[in-house]
Amino acid sequence: MNVFSDIAFDGHEQVVFASDDATGLKTIIAVHNTNLGPSLGGCRMWPYASEQEAIHDVLRLSRGMTYKSALANLPLGGGKSVIIGDPRSQKTPELFRAMGRAVEQVGGRYIVAEDVGTSPADMEQIASQTKHVGGINDGSDPARTGDPSPFTAYGVFIGLKEAVRFKHGTDELKGMRVAVQGLGHVGYHLCRMLHDAGAKLIVADLNTHSVNSAVEEFGATAVSVDEILSVDADILAPCALGGVINDRSIDALKAGIIAGASNNQLEHDRHGEMLRDKGVLYAPDYVINAGGVVEVHYCREGKSVAETNKHIEGIAATVREIFERAKQQNLSTGFVADRLAEERFGLVKRAA
Ligand code: NAD
Repeated sequence: MNVFSDIAFDGHEQVVFASDDATGLKTIIAVHNTNLGPSLGGCRMWPYASEQEAIHDVLRLSRGMTYKSALANLPLGGGKSVIIGDPRSQKTPELFRAMGRAVEQVGGRYIVAEDVGTSPADMEQIASQTKHVGGINDGSDPARTGDPSPFTAYGVFIGLKEAVRFKHGTDELKGMRVAVQGLGHVGYHLCRMLHDAGAKLIVADLNTHSVNSAVEEFGATAVSVDEILSVDADILAPCALGGVINDRSIDALKAGIIAGASNNQLEHDRHGEMLRDKGVLYAPDYVINAGGVVEVHYCREGKSVAETNKHIEGIAATVREIFERAKQQNLSTGFVADRLAEERFGLVKRAA
């Protein structure tokens, strides 16, 4: 088993392996960097094929949280945890209480939240053992449902508008054609905001029910999932999967802006350079999809929805700084975003 030599290790401050025989818990908690504050990141439950796969995933994800929180101007570092197990068959309240004890032992250097395979109910069990948990909705604010997706969508909307302003000199969305790939928790909220701002929507999803709703509610044009990445549009908003920006899709791409919620949209870093060379403005995914983590932090701090949204609106200034630096230095926006994050959390690894 390799930890220090894993490509995603990248100077992690702490990696904790914890288990509990009585409940079957096997967890890895990774704290990448706490220069800006305690590390915050979701707990993913997944039936990993091997321990090495689980280690690689937790290291990769926790490092990503350091960059995301730094660029979201949050007083937080990056961390993540994984539980090795099948969320469909191996979840019990006791398992999550044991997870809560494991988090408590990290002593506040890691704050856990919901992620793939875990739910608000699981966080409630964790919260019975530790206060170092986010994403708990006490019901005191009816504008909060416990789902961070509307906040993520709002941040994407803000970032997308800033990209339009940078490219076209105005953030007017009326008449702009936006292709939205994926109408799930984030994509559907984003469609509503874009529709309200006067944009023309082109949508695709594997789920025909969501597609039909978007056609009815927003007058969207439906296309197949194979067509969405290459439709004639001004903006492409990937809100489904990672890796969708690759050699094939860049070749066929007609949109001049990419701004969406999906994590890891670029298959490889070099695709950021290909977009630059093609004159496509790419709003780095982890910068504009940070609304959800802002919400988790603000909810934990007892701040209002209005304060949360105001903070999320700060995404505009960050993404503009990235666009400007990238243009001045003829670099890809993804590369510039990473360097800016490193400046903020105090780790300058290579000169731009
Ligand atoms: P979701 O699972 O609710 O929605 C994803 C949607 O994409 C589903 O409706 C699914 O049917 C559709 N889809 C899957 N494959 C597709 C394909 N090939 N073509 C078109 N549609 C397809 O997920 P979500 O919470 O809306 O998140 C969307 C993306 O944003 C994910 O990549 C997620 O990691 C990222 N993200 C989400 C949040 C959040 O707050 N939910 C925060 C940050 C990043």
